[in-house]
Amino acid sequence: MKPMTGAEVRQSFLDFFAERGHTIVPSASLVPTRDPTLLFTNAGMNQFKDVFLGVGTRPYTRAVDTQKVMRVSGKHNDLDDVGRDTTHHTFFEMLGNWSFGDYYKQEAIRWAWELLTEEWGLDKDRIWATVFKDEQAELETDEDAKGFWLSETEIPPEQVLYAGRKFNFWQMADTGPCGPCSEIHYDRGPSACVCQDDPGHECRVNGDCGRFTEIWNLVFIQYNQHEDGDLEPLPDKHIDTGAGFERLLAILQGVDSNYKTDLFMPLIRRVQGMVGHDDDQVEEHMVAYRVIADHARAVTFLIGDGVLPGSEGRGYVCRMILRRAVRFGRELGLSDPFMTEVAETVIEMMGHHFPELVNRRSFILKTIKAEEDRFLRTLDVGLERLDALMAEVEEAGKRELPGDQVFQLYDTFGLPVEITRDVAEEYDFSIDEAGYREALEEQRRRARAAGAFEMDDEEALARYQGVLLDLQERGVLGDHGVEQDPYRALSVETQIAAVLQKGHQIRELGPGDEVELVIPDTCFYVESGGQVSDTGVITAVPKSGEEPDWQVRVRDVREPVAGLLLHVGEVEKGTPAVGDRARASVHRGRRMDIARNHTATHLLQRALRHVLGDHVQQAGSLVAPLRLRFDFTHPDMLTREELDRVTHEVNEAILANYEVASSEQPYRQAVQQGVIALFGEKYGESVRVLRVGPGDRPFSRELCGGTHVEETGTIGSFHVISQESVGAGIRRIEAVTGRGAIDYVEERLDLIRRVAGQLGVPPSDLAQRVEHLQEELDGAEKEIHQLEQRLAREAFEDLLGDVEPVDGVAVVAARVEAPNVDALREMTDWFRDRLESGVFVLGTVMDGRPALVASVTPDVVERGADAVGIVRALGRMIGGGGGGRPTMAQAGGSNADGLDEALSKAARILQEQLEGS
Ligand code: ATP
Ligand code: MG
Repeated sequence: MKPMTGAEVRQSFLDFFAERGHTIVPSASLVPTRDPTLLFTNAGMNQFKDVFLGVGTRPYTRAVDTQKVMRVSGKHNDLDDVGRDTTHHTFFEMLGNWSFGDYYKQEAIRWAWELLTEEWGLDKDRIWATVFKDEQAELETDEDAKGFWLSETEIPPEQVLYAGRKFNFWQMADTGPCGPCSEIHYDRGPSACVCQDDPGHECRVNGDCGRFTEIWNLVFIQYNQHEDGDLEPLPDKHIDTGAGFERLLAILQGVDSNYKTDLFMPLIRRVQGMVGHDDDQVEEHMVAYRVIADHARAVTFLIGDGVLPGSEGRGYVCRMILRRAVRFGRELGLSDPFMTEVAETVIEMMGHHFPELVNRRSFILKTIKAEEDRFLRTLDVGLERLDALMAEVEEAGKRELPGDQVFQLYDTFGLPVEITRDVAEEYDFSIDEAGYREALEEQRRRARAAGAFEMDDEEALARYQGVLLDLQERGVLGDHGVEQDPYRALSVETQIAAVLQKGHQIRELGPGDEVELVIPDTCFYVESGGQVSDTGVITAVPKSGEEPDWQVRVRDVREPVAGLLLHVGEVEKGTPAVGDRARASVHRGRRMDIARNHTATHLLQRALRHVLGDHVQQAGSLVAPLRLRFDFTHPDMLTREELDRVTHEVNEAILANYEVASSEQPYRQAVQQGVIALFGEKYGESVRVLRVGPGDRPFSRELCGGTHVEETGTIGSFHVISQESVGAGIRRIEAVTGRGAIDYVEERLDLIRRVAGQLGVPPSDLAQRVEHLQEELDGAEKEIHQLEQRLAREAFEDLLGDVEPVDGVAVVAARVEAPNVDALREMTDWFRDRLESGVFVLGTVMDGRPALVASVTPDVVERGADAVGIVRALGRMIGGGGGGRPTMAQAGGSNADGLDEALSKAARILQEQLEGS
């Protein structure tokens, strides 16, 4: 008999329970509604939690469904197993039947048995069941469930086992509905055991050797777990079951891995086709194939449920999973985007049961494409950096990658920590996880402090997505959304397509209000590739001769979802409304400043490569009106001479007044011609190549979507204003051009003029004058030092008169003037030289803080004296502590008032020491 297909198995589960009075309900979204405790739906019961808690009701008391679930966060996180075993996925379907205060254990057990053995014909001898027995003996043993297994089914009695809390007490999270459960396991036979070679190994249920697979969990919901650990019995008892659809299918289709079922094979075949592997090679690279197939499903379903790749929360998981798949693809040799193709297959296969995939098909594919494109630009550089990092760590004799560097890989090259961890483990390195989290937190704090736009506010994103789809459906916007052309005109006439506030459509609006305007085509540049967004104004187009009746000052342009550009700003007058004719104008001077800095960034990158070598790669960039910032890979700080050569070369290129020209080319062709791809750009099939210099011998050629000057001469001049290190092997240069450069130079000249004025010399004599002053100063300092020495010497001579013997030991304890502790120590040496034997304790107050030095000659140490003991005792009196050696010790403190008293106690302490020995 031909095995059932996946679709048939799913349907037969639903039908079986429908025939027994269950209502078939659709899967809830992967994004839990109204449940702040959960990132993703992680079990079938999530959507019924309110019923279990008695706060919600449904029009039915029996239900059946297949629920989309994700287990990559929180209490249930299976990410580490995915791909490495054959039974855990990030995304999977959980089949479930439900009773809300209706039937209980007896029927649940009987029906599960009937479905598995009669409907689906599984071998009765291969089925095992576990029931709850509390190893802590606090909760009741589930003898009921055991009894029903024995009375309602034909399971071999020795195949009903007890198990404890870990396996047989079910909780969705740390709080909420829960209860004992009964798990059903399937015996795949001795040959499925992966521990056959381990001496003494015994296959058993929950033994993790691959022989027994948990397929279905029948949960008997009877408690509510409170935060304080209290278990409160629920008024009604419920049935909640979860069967792993993919696992069941593998068993029903007679294969030894979920990935060999018809749910996964088409995905694996599709990837195989792209890679060109034969079946043996696929087997060899199985982990990569599995991860890609698994993650493609997860990403497709996540985006289908409105989770967009982002930097926090759900968005981060979506991004991380997609990127992880891409990295495994790279391991298989796939360097071109491939994930949309796999996602297409997912939609083809699953769309009939999950119509949201079909409805959002183009959105899902576009989103995947954009994210994959973006990541591919930085993946190689990121992996190279990771290699270099591992080499550095190894050289230092360590195997742990520092957390801040791991964070840098994510922050700069977009490598999620999960990928870094994968690669690190392959090479036997570990990650300083705590350090990573700290660096991540630190960045979040900074972002919050800077009031960053909450791109990851999921609800807002969903609203923007809705606005975009709506405008596209009504034909106001085309397939690609807002048409952007920031390259030609700086002003366009258009009309208002939408008037929003935080994604909400609004009508009532007046001067001073914040607004987000959408227009079908724009000449504004939206932040990308490091270049900041334009600012400007959007104004009503008036009838001839009249004043425009509204105006909005645009402060920023944002693209919360691909294709929807928002002109964000403040209404200055009137009320813009949908359909109004409008003129959008970019602030011209600011745009020119930005263009100068952007073209100069290209010149800078070229010059760095000339001067330092071709290993220089861009690691990040900011192009703003006032300055440019360029991060690049290079092992050392640049010397003054290297910096001068770079600056010189850039300025030469400016003076050469090279032509700057752009052209559209297919991406592949551009890369083949050796064009440099800048970080963080968004590219489609055809890319924009920016050339500086003559066509036959260009100074630079780079992929770039930014806006530039037409001739390099317009840049004016270029100056580096700072250099710093931002992580191992990454340097940062900040520079100015054009007006910024003029201001910078003017400011410096002014400074020179002012200083020269203060010194009363012409600027040309400044250096000589400063040198002269320096000499004078050195001479004066030397003189002061000599005078201080003389004074100290005199004080010393005076003190010699005050020496008091204690038990025959000469003791000096006095307060002196001294510029630092070294001077104090030197003075004790004088005493030692002069008196040869004794104890010398000197104290002083420097900048309001007391300090003490005690010196004890070795013969006195022999008699029991100890400098450390002395300064410790005295140190307490000046509010501090100290240490050193028995012959020489020092102490510092915070209480200067205690110094005199401390010194007066020195003799007493010495006496105690001598007596005590
Ligand atoms: P396991 O111990 O195998 O991880 P579990 O105890 O976490 O399973 P439950 O929470 O009881 O599983 O989930 C119900 C069913 O869902 C399981 O019986 C199993 O068949 C399936 N299942 C659980 N986790 C996964 C996963 N990551 N991928 C695929 N199926 C799973
Ligand atoms: Mg689990």
